Amino acid sequence: MRNPIDLLSPVWTHLTHVQPVRGEGVYLYDADGVRYMDFTSGIGVTNTGHAHPRVVQAIQEQAGALIFGQMNIVITPAALRLAQKLDEVTPPSIEQFFFSNSGAEAVEASVKLARMATKRRNLIVMQGSFHGRTHQAMAMTTSKSIYRYDYQPLPGGVFVTPFPYSYYYGWSEEETTHFCLRQLDQLLHSQSAPDETAAIVIEPVLGEGGYVPAPNAFLRELRSLCDRHGILLIIDEVQSGFGRTGKFFAYEHAGVEPDILVMAKGLGSGMPISAIGARAELMARWKPGTHGGTYGGGNAVAAAAAAATIDVIREEGLVENAAQQGARLLKGLREIQAEHPVIGDVRGRGLMVGVEFTAPDGRPAAETATRVQAECLRRNLLLLTCGAYGNVIRWIPPLVVAADQIDDALAIFNEAMASVGK
Ligand code: PLP
Repeated sequence: MRNPIDLLSPVWTHLTHVQPVRGEGVYLYDADGVRYMDFTSGIGVTNTGHAHPRVVQAIQEQAGALIFGQMNIVITPAALRLAQKLDEVTPPSIEQFFFSNSGAEAVEASVKLARMATKRRNLIVMQGSFHGRTHQAMAMTTSKSIYRYDYQPLPGGVFVTPFPYSYYYGWSEEETTHFCLRQLDQLLHSQSAPDETAAIVIEPVLGEGGYVPAPNAFLRELRSLCDRHGILLIIDEVQSGFGRTGKFFAYEHAGVEPDILVMAKGLGSGMPISAIGARAELMARWKPGTHGGTYGGGNAVAAAAAAATIDVIREEGLVENAAQQGARLLKGLREIQAEHPVIGDVRGRGLMVGVEFTAPDGRPAAETATRVQAECLRRNLLLLTCGAYGNVIRWIPPLVVAADQIDDALAIFNEAMASVGK
């Protein structure tokens, strides 16, 4: 008999062949009862932990009552409840919501809204960005060449400006911010004039690109530049949202607000659902019927899961826990860094933390990062890497993680570091 894994398309890479049958909080269990610490959260999805009882209950109740109500035909109370919940956690300037199923779909929606609302065509994205795998989102993704390889040419009108990744440049945060703003200004004078630029799109913490928080000053300058030129600021919180960084949304650290907010992943605790939010005045410029889809907003089970997710995050103090445990994680990682010069940088906000490996000659030490990741895996700790060179280990545990679980993971990481040498 064929191994069922051979029935899966090889286009999927697999960190492991672990086959979990049950999840609880930060843990996954396989059929033999082997327990894994999931510090990937399924790439930032299970912020409430695996199978949070309140999310499970919401799913079960909704599935027993109504699974689907197509948004162009009816409006489910579950979708309306979710819109109300999102309204409560977003700033007053975000007044209306549009639902879809994945992060990439939400990014596509944000671009279509921005283009139609401004009647401008061009987009500016950040070097190192990741916005998804559909064609438009791929054209906006610059975190690794493999995501575009053999698919180019991609849709045009996308311009790339440097992201203030100060460790990469080797400058202070202020110098890097200044440099990046000058480069952006030059781009607006040389490649995409302000009045043909619909939007600047940014992840407030660069995700796949290396887990790099944008300096607050950079985000504030982007905000005022957009305001000056009538350019929309699209903030992609697909990976950084829903409590991940110790604020409900990462842009809150900088005290700025997006024109269009893009959400997915942590929104549904694993149910496929995404959303964008914007001012009513902007949404009013999005001609009815010019965008949509069969499932967006119609899956009442996903909407119920998302509403329950927001309740859990708020009522169980997960944002505060992310800030607290994130500080504990950063401190622990910095102590390990002090013993291992190959760890060049430890950075992050809340529970979105990156550990960057650098060889003595200054080159990215991807092989070391991969070996450390494998050693953690041998000890049943699941961790992902990121960054253009794959030399950053990212820490993204569920936000329900407890202090002793952070300590357990740090102890495993420390052992893994010791086993690969300095
Ligand atoms: N935007 C960001 C910041 C992401 O991290 C991702 C996925 O990792 C996406 C968009 C795309 O989301 P999805 O994979 O659900 O299409």
